[in-house]
Amino acid sequence: MNESEKTQKLDQVKSTCEKCFDCELGSTRTKSVFSDGSPDALIMLIGEAPGQNEDETGIPFIGRAGKLLDELFKTQGLTREKDIYICNTVKCRPPNNRVPTETEKAQCRKYLDAQIEIIKPKIILLCGATALKSIIGSKLPISKIRGEWIGHPSKAKVMPIFHPSYLLRNPSLKEGSPKWLMTEDIKKIKQYYQTLCKD
Ligand code: SF4
Repeated sequence: MNESEKTQKLDQVKSTCEKCFDCELGSTRTKSVFSDGSPDALIMLIGEAPGQNEDETGIPFIGRAGKLLDELFKTQGLTREKDIYICNTVKCRPPNNRVPTETEKAQCRKYLDAQIEIIKPKIILLCGATALKSIIGSKLPISKIRGEWIGHPSKAKVMPIFHPSYLLRNPSLKEGSPKWLMTEDIKKIKQYYQTLCKD
């Protein structure tokens, strides 16, 4: 599938998502938040759920946490405009930014599955514990499993990484700190990404 075919298919799914009331988050959202970034990206980053800024704009990872995420990836020359397709496990904001329920995640999973099927990413980054639990079913703390490559039925290589909101609360850059570890993880992602670009 070329980029314009992918865009067309994604637009169809997005249009359904915008009218969706399949779980109770549909009645409290301002805008559903489908995705941002390139449909032709090799990397798909999956976060938890939209927050207030995202709910108002319809764009994922647009607040302070999103800006930090962009900055960290840019240090390795990776951008959402070119390299990364960004989305969340649920497409509508849970009230007061609570964690989405199992029912909400299950109801919304069809949109995420469609995104993975259309994009066919080579790398999937699970950003934070909710994405890790939703996609891999792992209940391990993110700190124990982040930075490790894991297999996935889609054949993509999957890596759990810290959520940028956690990094905002832990701004130290000292060796071994969460932000330092995230930088090391992004270097590892870039190394593998480069091997894909040579194929
Ligand atoms: S969170 Fe997902 S399933 Fe629930 S209303 Fe929004 S788009 Fe539909």
